[in-house]
Amino acid sequence: MPTDRPATPDLLDRHGRTARDLRVSLTDRCNLRCHYCMPPEGLPWLEGPAVLTDDEVVRLVRLAVRDLGVHEVRFTGGEPLLRKGLEDIVAATTRMRTADGGPVRTSLTTNGIGLARRAAALAAAGLTRVNVSLDTLHADRFAAITRRDRHRDVLAGLEAAASAGLAPVKVNAVLLRGTNDDEAADLLRWALAAGYRLRFIEQMPLDPHGSWQRSQMVTADEILAALQREFRLVPRPGTARGAAPAETWDVVDADGTRLGDVGVIASVTRPFCGDCDRTRLTADGQVRTCLFSTTETDLRDALRSGADDAAIGNLWRTAMWGKLPGHDIDDPGFLHPTRPMSAIGG
Ligand code: SAM
Repeated sequence: MPTDRPATPDLLDRHGRTARDLRVSLTDRCNLRCHYCMPPEGLPWLEGPAVLTDDEVVRLVRLAVRDLGVHEVRFTGGEPLLRKGLEDIVAATTRMRTADGGPVRTSLTTNGIGLARRAAALAAAGLTRVNVSLDTLHADRFAAITRRDRHRDVLAGLEAAASAGLAPVKVNAVLLRGTNDDEAADLLRWALAAGYRLRFIEQMPLDPHGSWQRSQMVTADEILAALQREFRLVPRPGTARGAAPAETWDVVDADGTRLGDVGVIASVTRPFCGDCDRTRLTADGQVRTCLFSTTETDLRDALRSGADDAAIGNLWRTAMWGKLPGHDIDDPGFLHPTRPMSAIGG
């Protein structure tokens, strides 16, 4: 362990932050091919044995919750619904207790395909919430963005999640210049009517071909301007964004009645690195301190070579101690990470 690190069990870093929120990628595979995320042919997938087994995932999550101060676990991917053991992993996680005896908030980020069949079982396993990614209300645009004709499946998944009580159902949308950047207000109108909580995400430089350009990205300011042409947005009273990546506004009608809320995750133009409380585990058992890290710490090899929980915990603590202050996406010297979003876990 680094000698300049205070003797605390938590995942502290040199810049005063403590990670409480663990993002676990359960697979690098996906059944969509969103062009801002994956090439049409997919990626060189991890070989089966490289991926952590269900037991290995549960062991590392338990260690993080019991010994390292993690309070919140989100399963992601790739597409986590492609993981057969998902319900069992969720059930094992929701049975865990934090060091102070509290429950572990457990959620899922998914494209929603297949959720219609599995939402009830996931709710029964103790899952608290889902974030479903949906960029457009038009089936033809969905097919163009994702290269798959599955729009209807996603809508069915959303409805099933709400019926199963996986509330509040959040919807993540990425606006892309010239493709769906005219849909900000329509998406919000639809989400308010359905009772979903919409979050726009600025497009980040995590595409596999490195073609992201700052000048082409739809910014938070543009999204908010489009929304404000049709809605009254009121910043949430007294809520600093804190560790939550989304800045949130209440949406109110002309009489001031609250209709719901909307969030914008402006990772590029309004980065929130100073408040980041995240630590990430890839499907092959690598700790990443940030989506944009250029280094990883291998917990899988430690685990498979017989290291005990204390030793693995110290590897994880050491990795987090070295977390950089920020990702500098908006900086001309920014280095594109070597793994795309789907392999890291979005
Ligand atoms: N398959 C799941 C899903 O669709 O939600 C989980 C993984 S996916 C990588 C997580 C989120 O990352 C999705 O909302 C997706 O739109 C978003 N995403 C992927 N590439 C992105 C990029 N370059 N910039 C911003 N968001 C991105």
